[in-house]
Amino acid sequence: MNVLDSERMEGILLEQGYSPSSSPEQADLIIINTCTVRQKPERKALSLLGRLCQSKASSFKPILGICGCVAQQYGSQLLKRFSGLNFVLGTNQVYRLGEVLERVESGERVALTDWAEERDGLFQTSKLRPVPGVSAFVTIMEGCDNFCAYCIVPYVRGRERSRKPEDIISEINWLAEKGVKEVILLGQNVNSYGKKDNFGLDFPGLLKMVAGVEGIRRIRFVTSHPKDLSDRLIEVMASEEKICEQIHLPLQAGSNRVLELMGRGYTQKQYLELVKKLRRAMPEIGISTDLIVGFPGEREEDFEQTLEMVKEIEFDEAFTFKYTPRPGTRASKYPEQVPELVKKERLYRLEELAERISEEKNQKQVGKVKEILLEGVSKNNPERLTGRSREGRLVHIPRQGAESLLGEIISVKIEKGLKHSLLGELFQPKPQNLWQGEEQCLSR
Ligand code: SAH
Ligand code: SF4
Repeated sequence: MNVLDSERMEGILLEQGYSPSSSPEQADLIIINTCTVRQKPERKALSLLGRLCQSKASSFKPILGICGCVAQQYGSQLLKRFSGLNFVLGTNQVYRLGEVLERVESGERVALTDWAEERDGLFQTSKLRPVPGVSAFVTIMEGCDNFCAYCIVPYVRGRERSRKPEDIISEINWLAEKGVKEVILLGQNVNSYGKKDNFGLDFPGLLKMVAGVEGIRRIRFVTSHPKDLSDRLIEVMASEEKICEQIHLPLQAGSNRVLELMGRGYTQKQYLELVKKLRRAMPEIGISTDLIVGFPGEREEDFEQTLEMVKEIEFDEAFTFKYTPRPGTRASKYPEQVPELVKKERLYRLEELAERISEEKNQKQVGKVKEILLEGVSKNNPERLTGRSREGRLVHIPRQGAESLLGEIISVKIEKGLKHSLLGELFQPKPQNLWQGEEQCLSR
């Protein structure tokens, strides 16, 4: 979501005549886009802001702005705390960046953190928004109404609002014209798309519409809340060729007691049932998850149930987090906060288990031939190209001889399974020996 907001802002800035700078020292404008879901990214963003304000006092003098969830959370307080800061732009006001910059250029210091008055602005993206490549994010909804006990998202992103289907399709058509082959539909809880609106369309219905867009070859989406995952979604996923067999299904915790305290709205058994249904319909499906350790009140036996669930389900990938209290959330006021050392130790045990399982599952891919959408040059090794399998596995192949295939869906034979990715080679099926076939026919 933040990546997409950065792209949206880049589009607006290009409209205003700005161009990317090669280093922060040479920039006329610096905007820090922030996340506050956990404590650490918030601290990092504020300390970067502090450092930039300090150097602004001495050497360079760019316009300095902050946006995203930290901006939404603290609003104008940030202007008071950081004298070098020129503007604070809330999560719902991204589309007004141009107007804010005009006010800043005329000498004002601005904090704009109201909730968007009209839905169109909230989802608006500039036609100058740079298209990131083969795969692009598309927002289908904003905010969340679930208020899980630990989560700050509903407070900093606002109530759930879905985007009009015609606007989603028009953006996807535009992306397809620009050469995008895969779209990743974004929302905090995509399974409740359209529930509060009169679009006459639910999430599976929207997926079918997106599948109708010419030029788009693959569709993914994130995030699915387990409590809202319907049988119809599973059917549409299994039957619609363009929808990849991949789902991010945050479990958060393995024990019913903790799930209840978190207010997640499902039980261990219901989650396991969903996994079974998904695998029955799509045996190769890639399932990833989010897990929190050290939620207030989590005892050793609760944590062990999280480990048990991870062992039983064998997630393809697990994103593991140490619980941190977020201001205003219910859980931050729960009495039984878990000591830091215990959280650390649990996180270590969970990570070790989850990574071992991911690696083992990746190793089981060796020898298989996979359909990969080739997306670009690997971030860590310029000699390799990178893409994803339908189940969402990251696959690297040698760059040499394959560059002309960027943006194509190719067959790759998997040679090696690593912790977080696979290594493979372009696969060229052997030409069939027709003569042999004929010989067999004749001899029959
Ligand atoms: N909408 C998504 C999650 C958004 S936040 C969902 O419903 O699953 C991304 C992840 O951050 C969450 O899934 C959760 O695992 C983690 N998270 C959220 N608040 C947290 C907190 N206070 N401490 C630790 N992890 C947290
Ligand atoms: Fe946060 Fe996701 Fe729960 Fe919404 S559903 S409150 S975004 S964890």
